Amino acid sequence: MIFGGFQKNSMIDFPGKIAALVFTQGCNFHCPYCHNPALIAMKGKQNISEEEVLLFLKKRKGLIEGLAITGGEPTLQKNLPDFCEKVKAMGFPIKLDTNGSRPEVLRGLLTAGLLDCIAMDIKTLPSEYAPLLSDHSMEHALETSIRLIIESGIDHEFRTTCVFPFISEEKAKSLVPLIRGARRFALQSFSDTSLYNPDFFNKKGRGLDDHEINRIKTVLSPHTESFIIR
Ligand code: SF4
Repeated sequence: MIFGGFQKNSMIDFPGKIAALVFTQGCNFHCPYCHNPALIAMKGKQNISEEEVLLFLKKRKGLIEGLAITGGEPTLQKNLPDFCEKVKAMGFPIKLDTNGSRPEVLRGLLTAGLLDCIAMDIKTLPSEYAPLLSDHSMEHALETSIRLIIESGIDHEFRTTCVFPFISEEKAKSLVPLIRGARRFALQSFSDTSLYNPDFFNKKGRGLDDHEINRIKTVLSPHTESFIIR
């Protein structure tokens, strides 16, 4: 595992738990609004070793209630299943954040019972991810991940950052069949601090206003068990 960051405790990254948070290095997307741009490069700096994370968890048993694994994109780490096995063997529940691009990794983790909670970003319609990718289309992979997560039976959340042109009321209508039955959906307001591509927001990108966000909520919320705007 290559970790680009580590946060010893967080009250907001694992629903209902005080969790430690590890940030994996490397992402296969390049979202202009990414708030962790230093984590996108595949060969970034290793800030903490796997052994140090495991030792920290061992010492904090009873104080820390779980581990949240975020990125970057954690499913790109080839040792992720092995790392999750070690964390679970210590008795810690795991929450995984993912962009949904590696459904085969998600399937393996779910089948092995290694995850307790998943949060997946849905950035736009799966057929419209091209501006966020450096290589091929991921439409099928993204749709497969969404179905896997909804059918997993574990706690899960989908979340969309409210940035034009990626999401709109019209696009939300097309998302309905994909997210129907999801346990939780979160619309996240756009924040313009520490962006991967600030230039994008000088040209065509912008955060949606409250009215636009509420219109999207009206479209999506009848189809999910719970819905939040944060
Ligand atoms: S927002 Fe997430 S998926 Fe997008 S570039 Fe950043 S880490 Fe990758």
